[in-house]
Amino acid sequence: MRSEIGVGIIGTGFMGKAHAFAYRSVASYFPESAMPVLQVVADVNEAAAEAAKAQFGFRRATTDWRDLVADPAVAIVSITAPNVLHREIALAAAAAGKHIHCEKPLAPDATAARAMADAAAAAGVVTQAGFNYLQNPLIRLARDMIAAGELGEITSFRGIHAEDYMADPQAPWTWRLDPAGGGGVIADLGSHIIAMARFLLGGITHVNADLETAIASRPIAPGAAERRNVEVDDIARLTLRFARGCGGHVEANWVATGRKMHLAFEVAGSKGSLVFTQERLNELQFYRVGDDPRHAGFVRIEAGPQHAPYGRFCVAPGHQLGFNDLKVIEVAAFLQAIAGQAQGSGEAIGPDFREAWEIQKVIDTAIRSSASRSWQAVS
Ligand code: NAD
Repeated sequence: MRSEIGVGIIGTGFMGKAHAFAYRSVASYFPESAMPVLQVVADVNEAAAEAAKAQFGFRRATTDWRDLVADPAVAIVSITAPNVLHREIALAAAAAGKHIHCEKPLAPDATAARAMADAAAAAGVVTQAGFNYLQNPLIRLARDMIAAGELGEITSFRGIHAEDYMADPQAPWTWRLDPAGGGGVIADLGSHIIAMARFLLGGITHVNADLETAIASRPIAPGAAERRNVEVDDIARLTLRFARGCGGHVEANWVATGRKMHLAFEVAGSKGSLVFTQERLNELQFYRVGDDPRHAGFVRIEAGPQHAPYGRFCVAPGHQLGFNDLKVIEVAAFLQAIAGQAQGSGEAIGPDFREAWEIQKVIDTAIRSSASRSWQAVS
């Protein structure tokens, strides 16, 4: 008899829906996993909670996340509410003995992230942070190629996460601009590309950052004449030193006109290079030093069933995975970890709250570095 596991999702926006899709479908792609049952959905907006209940088949809806956390039918608490709420909800969930799936950035700052990781560890619950882009099988291939020395000695990492959803000066003030929720783009998009840098190349030891606010004020609400000053960054430019010895650059930018999902990197090494952009997430470009000069150049590696777990979604190469599939793989990794398989083994690749805390430390260091106009050690 297949085991069931009760799920409660807090928030019904972009990520709340992505989590609901993933928990609903994961058992079809990963039949060895427990069967998630959508028990409770919580949103302060009652109509949104009721709509999500009807859309996804949750057993009930509530406007109070504490009611969801306390429900004995909920074994997994999935946090997709604004960043400022992550810590309080996660601490309550850990105290109630619930496994916790939390969206990125894990917390407004590293102190809060550490408190969340410590509370989960003390409670013995499993954690997962929502760095879905790391779940792409081609990103795992890139990491494996780097670890196996196929690129030789790594000389540099150049990463960017650029989108344009805040490029319009009339785009209104939202929770993403709330300084109590952490930095601006450095937390929102920077967390993803920093996670990628650490996933591929390991620890970051030093940061020199320049954070900039490009649009000084925003309408307080859609169409409002009254404007509110922006206290967080729109563009973050970081120079990095990695523990392995190489350096790198990272940019996070949410006013990059025309860019929709440009989470991209180039890793260069003495034997070759890898180039990737999430806008073409089923492709990895590989350049190898020493190939016959007549046909030397970047080769396009195309995702297919040979790149697990692609084959669980589609038997044919080139048919392509999508954004929501990455969320399904993330949930599968979480369920595997709950079932006792170590994160990092098999198809379960985390990242858990400890790793999300490490990512948060780099974000905090960047904010500190920019304020002091100096190199700072990650601490
Ligand atoms: P959103 O604004 O679309 O949705 C947030 C939801 O939370 C809304 O439905 C809102 O009503 C609800 N909410 C607010 N306060 C609440 C409360 N007290 N209790 C319950 N619900 C409450 O935001 P989003 O884009 O879904 O982002 C949510 C989280 O997901 C953030 O942490 C964000 O950084 C993260 N995120 C991750 C990715 C990714 O690729 N992993 C993408 C987008 C957002």
